[in-house]
Amino acid sequence: MENKKIGIVIDNDFASKNNPPYPRPIFASYENPNRIKIILNYFEKINLFEDKRLIKLSPLIIEDKIIELAHSRYYIDSIKRLSNLGSGHIGDEVFITKDTFNLAKKAVGGAIKAVESVIKNDVNQSFALIRPPGHHALREMGSGLSVFNNIANTILYLREELKYDKKIAIVDIDDHFGDGIAQYFYCDSNVLYFSVHEFDFVEGELGFPDELGEGEGLGKNINFPVPAGMNDNEFLEFFDILDPILREFQPDLIIIATGFDMYFADPVGNCNLTSLSYFRFTEKILKIAEEVSEGKLSFILEGGYSLIGLPFCVHAIIKGLLNEHFERPLFENLEFQYKSKMEEIIKIKNSLKELLKNHWNLIE
Ligand SMILES: [Zn+2]
Repeated sequence: MENKKIGIVIDNDFASKNNPPYPRPIFASYENPNRIKIILNYFEKINLFEDKRLIKLSPLIIEDKIIELAHSRYYIDSIKRLSNLGSGHIGDEVFITKDTFNLAKKAVGGAIKAVESVIKNDVNQSFALIRPPGHHALREMGSGLSVFNNIANTILYLREELKYDKKIAIVDIDDHFGDGIAQYFYCDSNVLYFSVHEFDFVEGELGFPDELGEGEGLGKNINFPVPAGMNDNEFLEFFDILDPILREFQPDLIIIATGFDMYFADPVGNCNLTSLSYFRFTEKILKIAEEVSEGKLSFILEGGYSLIGLPFCVHAIIKGLLNEHFERPLFENLEFQYKSKMEEIIKIKNSLKELLKNHWNLIE
């Protein structure tokens, strides 16, 4: 498409602020400004923005009352108080620095900008390169490196401020289950949440296939757990369920909770994807979006902590959106000495289909 426009939300603060107050390497230290800096450095090196189809966007500047759509006043004030003090911890694995409140608020503004630009037809698709991540954040408490729930907050903003009452599908490809997003829309008939996530089948955790939603939202919370060690050949199996469900649900907008922590070199996740998986994912989801939601598709960055892989994974998605060829970098041509997970994934897929066929005509 000649006149295609892709909006990329960037801001230098994401590449410089909210430095974790720890010596490396502990888990929380991976959520740091270099995640964005390394992506922007790469874009500069390859002169990405010389491509006039790519439009730089800045986060929307928002007031605190917008955050109150998604979070309690007490929780928002707590983040602000600790940020004013200059340090602290809150919830499960959320560190606070002097920058946290302002940067987390800017991340919400970045997600809003990305999605709003798509629904207003300013751009065809968009990608918000924001941090800290959001998909674990709960209404009353941050969790798992997430301060404010960027995606949930964006949807609540669309409803309240823009009176947008159309159907939205969220597809979450972060390595972890987005329990925060699931919490917001568990009973909501207008928001479908589909999460593919690494799952501990021995110990168990949230994100089971039978968490299907409640009331009007029943059947619209869909969890596709996968075993650790999954690779490029196995990753896209979930489309056998996602594809028919998106065609039946007919969302007006698709939002991708875009985590890159299933990447093989990620220090947190345990899967074995290369950047090729993110390219193939984008090709497939774009095709569906073009058929069901007039191409309205927005990627919002969540996790993903490999400073080697992030630039290539983000670029893979941009290439996919531009309908261009993508070649993964040579260093990713590796052989992983793990037993194939395909049999296990097909079993999960079949049992999930059994659970979903009562709720969706196109699932058999
Ligand atoms: Zn994650």
